[in-house]
Amino acid sequence: MVSLFKEKKNIDVLICGAGPVGVFLANELADFEINFRIIEKVEKNPEFSKALLVSPRTLEILDNRGLLHPFLEYGVKIKQFSIIQNVHDPSNPIKIELSSMNSNFSFGLMNRQNKTVDYLIDALHEKKSMRKKHVPNVEFCMELIKYEEKDDHVIAVVKNTKSNVEEEIICQYLVGCDGVHSTVRKGINGWTFEGQTLKSSWALADVEIDHELVKYDQATSFVLNEGPIAAIPLDARKNTYRLVVKIGDENKNETNDHVTHGLTNKNHITLEELQKLIDERIAPIKLELKNPVWISNFKINERIVNRYRTGRVFIAGDAAHCHSPLGGQGMNLGIQDAHNLAFKLALVIRDQAADVNKLLDSYEHERYPVGKNVIEGTGFATKMVTGNDYITSFLRTRIAPILFHFFPQTVFKFQNNLLQNNLNYLPESSEILHKYKPRSGAENQLIEAGHYVQDGLLMKITSHKVHERITMFDVFRSTALKHTLILFTLNKGVTSDCNPLIETLLEIYNDYKNTITPIIISYQGVVQTADIPFMPFQEEGREQHIFVECKFELHEKYGVTKEFGQQAFVLIRPDLYIASAVFEDDVDKLKSFLDQYLVKADR
Ligand SMILES: Cc1cc2nc3c(=O)[nH]c(=O)nc-3n(C[C@H](O)[C@H](O)[C@H](O)COP(=O)(O)OP(=O)(O)OC[C@H]3O[C@@H](n4cnc5c(N)ncnc54)[C@H](O)[C@@H]3O)c2cc1C
Repeated sequence: MVSLFKEKKNIDVLICGAGPVGVFLANELADFEINFRIIEKVEKNPEFSKALLVSPRTLEILDNRGLLHPFLEYGVKIKQFSIIQNVHDPSNPIKIELSSMNSNFSFGLMNRQNKTVDYLIDALHEKKSMRKKHVPNVEFCMELIKYEEKDDHVIAVVKNTKSNVEEEIICQYLVGCDGVHSTVRKGINGWTFEGQTLKSSWALADVEIDHELVKYDQATSFVLNEGPIAAIPLDARKNTYRLVVKIGDENKNETNDHVTHGLTNKNHITLEELQKLIDERIAPIKLELKNPVWISNFKINERIVNRYRTGRVFIAGDAAHCHSPLGGQGMNLGIQDAHNLAFKLALVIRDQAADVNKLLDSYEHERYPVGKNVIEGTGFATKMVTGNDYITSFLRTRIAPILFHFFPQTVFKFQNNLLQNNLNYLPESSEILHKYKPRSGAENQLIEAGHYVQDGLLMKITSHKVHERITMFDVFRSTALKHTLILFTLNKGVTSDCNPLIETLLEIYNDYKNTITPIIISYQGVVQTADIPFMPFQEEGREQHIFVECKFELHEKYGVTKEFGQQAFVLIRPDLYIASAVFEDDVDKLKSFLDQYLVKADR
C-alpha cells in the first residue's frame, strides 16, 4: 500500500468525526474563532438517519447559537405520545402531552440525523462565507489512523482514504467525536468502554403507513407483552414513519468487540417478515407497511467510558457513551457534551483560564454523571416497555395506567428527566462551579451555581423613549459567546449615584473585558427611562445593556426577592449554566471566585 507523508501542520484543535457531535463542535469552535480542523473517514454524510428527536434543551442551545431556523422549518413537531396497551380497544390510548415540558420548546422535534448534520455543515459554510477567520470545511475521506500525545501537543496521523496519502497533524488538542468504535478512545491504554449488550434485538424500518391510529403529529406506540412497536413521524406530508419493533430476545451476550449501539447489517429482517410480525402482534389492527426507505436490525448497548479526558485528548458523543435509543437522547447528549467542552477549550486556547487543568477536568466532572444518568434512565424505560416477567408486565399494564391517569405530574417529571429538560450540574461535582453559601444564613432562594438559565420577559431600553420587548434568551443570544454577568437590582436604580453596585459591575467588567459581558436587570417602577445612563459599556460596541422587567418574575426565578432585600450578581457561562450567584454583601466572594476561574484582561 502506498503511504506518503505530507508536511506537518499546526492547529489548535483536531476534531475526529463529522457526525452530529463533531459538526456541532466545529460550529462552536468557529464561533469562538479557534483554529481547528474536522476530519471524517467516509466520503459523505450518510443518507439514512439514526437519531430523530432533537430534544427541547438541544433546541434551546441551537437557538442560542443561531442554528435553529432549518430545524423548525423542516422538522416535524409532535405534540403527544399515544400509548396503546389494548389492541382490542385502540381508541382509548394513554396520552402523554408534551406541552407540559419544561422548556420554551414544548414539543418533540423529529428531524433526520443526516439532515441535522447537513444543517450544521451548511452553518459552517455560512460562517466561512461571512469571512470569519479559521472556518474550515469538513474534510471527508480523511481517517484518523493513530495519534501520540506529547507534553505540549498531539501528533495525529490521518490518511486520505482515496489516495492513501498520510499526513501528520500537530494539534494542541484532539477531540474524538468518532462514534462507538472510536479510534481516539482505543488509542489510549487504560481508556475502557464498560457495559453490556442487551439481549433484546430490534428492527427499524422507515416506511409509509396510512392508518388513522398513526398520526403525523404524535408518536404512537403499542406496548404489548410480546414487545413494543413504535411509529414516529418522519415527514408531516408523506405519511412516512420510523417504525421501531422489538423482534426478539437472544441469550447470547456480545463482547466489547461487537459493540453495535448500533446498527448491524447481519440478518436483516425483510419487509414481509416485519409485516407478518406486526400483523400477528396487533391483530385485529392492520397497519400496512409500504415503500421502505431503510430497514435495519440493531441491538442495544449500554456502555460508558471511564474517562472523558486524558491530557490533551477528549472524547464526546457516542465515543463516550451509548445506550437505548428509547427517549431519543444519544445525539442530544453528545451535542450537549460538545457544548460543555467548546467554551472551555476556547478559554484555554486563548490563555483566559486561570487554572487550565481544573477547567478541562470539569468537562469530565460535569458530563460523566449526565451520561451515566441517561444510561440508567433509558435503561429503566426500556426495561419497563420490554420486560415480560410478571412484575414488569404488572407494573406496565396495571400500575402505569393509574399513574398516567391520577398522577400525571409524576409522569411529566420522569419524562422531563428522561429528556434531560431538568438538567443542572451539581456544584459539588465540579470545581469550576462557585460553592457559595450566603453569609447572612437567612433563608433565601438565590439560584445556585450549576443550574441552567431561566427565561423571562424584559424590556430593552433602546432610547429615551422606546422600550422593546425582548426575552432573557434573546439577550443570551447576543452575549453567550462570553460569560454574562447580570446585576439584578432591587429598588436602588441603575446609576452609580444611587446604586454603588453599578460601579462594582463596571470594575469587574474592566477586569474581565475579554471574557464577560455585563448587564443590569431592574424592574419597572424603580427605573425611569431618564435615569438610564446610556452606553455604560461602550467598548462592547453594543447599544445597551440595561433591561427592565414589568412583572418581577425573572428576579424571582433567579431568587432575588424583595423580601430578602438584597441585590445579586449572577454569572452565566457560555453554555448557559450558572457559574456563580452571590448577594451584594458577598461581592468579594464573586471576585475571588473569578480570580480562580478567569484571567484578568490586563494580565
Ligand atoms: C435506531 C437509533 C435511533 C436513535 N434515535 C435517536 C434519537 O431519536 N435522538 C438521539 O439523540 N439519538 C438517537 N440515537 C443515537 C444517535 O444516533 C447517536 O447518539 C449519534 O449518532 C451520536 O453522534 P456522534 O456524532 O457522537 O457519532 P456518530 O454519529 O457515530 O458519528 C461519528 C462519525 O465519526 C466518523 N469516524 C469514525 N472513526 C473515524 C476515524 N478514525 N477518522 C475519522 N472519522 C471517523 C464516522 O464515520 C462518523 O461519521 C439513535 C440511534 C439509533 C441506532
